[in-house]
Amino acid sequence: MREPADADARRAVAPVIAYPDDTLPRPDLDLYRAARAGATLTASVRVEPREAACFTVPAGHFFRIVSVEGPQVGDLNLWNRADLSERFYSGKTRALHGTHLGTGARMWSSFPAMRPMATIVEDTLDWYGFDAYGGAVHDVIGTRCDPYTGNLLAGTQYHHCCHSNLTRALADETGLSLAEAEGCVHDVLNVFMCTGFTRDTGQYFMKASPVRPGDHLEFFAEIDLLGALSACPGGDCSAEHSSDTAQCHPLLVEVYAPAQGALAGWAPPPVNGYDRSHGR
Ligand SMILES: [Zn+2]
Repeated sequence: MREPADADARRAVAPVIAYPDDTLPRPDLDLYRAARAGATLTASVRVEPREAACFTVPAGHFFRIVSVEGPQVGDLNLWNRADLSERFYSGKTRALHGTHLGTGARMWSSFPAMRPMATIVEDTLDWYGFDAYGGAVHDVIGTRCDPYTGNLLAGTQYHHCCHSNLTRALADETGLSLAEAEGCVHDVLNVFMCTGFTRDTGQYFMKASPVRPGDHLEFFAEIDLLGALSACPGGDCSAEHSSDTAQCHPLLVEVYAPAQGALAGWAPPPVNGYDRSHGR
């Protein structure tokens, strides 16, 4: 189609932020950090390469995802431990916090609860920022690698994509059937993954993760959580995923309990205040 005469003027309109965050409830990071200072390790879960593992975190406790042995990205799912229908909402989190998460950002839950499930309290990759390609770490723009897309694009039957790893881990943890568990698996937080959109074609890209052993991403659990983390078959995602080609490493999840009384005055966030009448 031919451009209209005022095409340049239309393109020149300045954007506005869709969801200004000045009224977004702020986490009390100072309180969380003070509580973390006296916290003790209560559980440690190793996620094997090309597999996933579940972990539980009580409200008010912390969990840390640690790079061990070599660069590796992880695909994270979170559920309300008491109600798996309340789960991490990647799209809304992206709308509120942007394409990549860092310290102070929250992982928001699905409707109708729509409340913070977890708050990032420490990110050793905060220094990375946005690189010259527009890439950054810990995105909420990807989905999770899955066998359906592989089948669509290449006709493959690959069983260790993050989608299947998360499905098996959740089924093992809860006793749900594979089909039931699969229905609970959702779009992820891509932990340590370095991604963006190409400037010319807008395509989703990935590149070698800057993560190194010892790096970690740590969260404060706002509600009782069931988590599942997959060590992606893409390894550091420098080349490909959805195959057994990439070099992969394990990931470690550590859970920490604060000292008694360290969170005095704090309570888990209530569910969203919308009345759900939908105009009727
Ligand atoms: Zn993956």
